[in-house]
Amino acid sequence: MPHARGCPNMDDFDELLSSLTPREDNEAIASYQNTTAVACPSCEEPFDDMVVCKQEFTSLNLDFEMDLCTTINDGNVVLFTHK
Ligand SMILES: [Zn+2]
Repeated sequence: MPHARGCPNMDDFDELLSSLTPREDNEAIASYQNTTAVACPSCEEPFDDMVVCKQEFTSLNLDFEMDLCTTINDGNVVLFTHK
């Protein structure tokens, strides 16, 4: 799967989504598990989970510490977690 270097090409978002396993979907977030080691669109390292933030990013309780890559898709903040 081709990846734009440095600048994520979220035209591939639907394709990316289809490769991931849905885990959680509520009014605040939708999270997906990367069970197939898909490369992160930002850093090209395989990520663990993708989280789509449906609300203001600041309203989220991010009570975990890990490396994150972020991007924007369709106005929503999208997080890619790296453990
Ligand atoms: Zn990344």
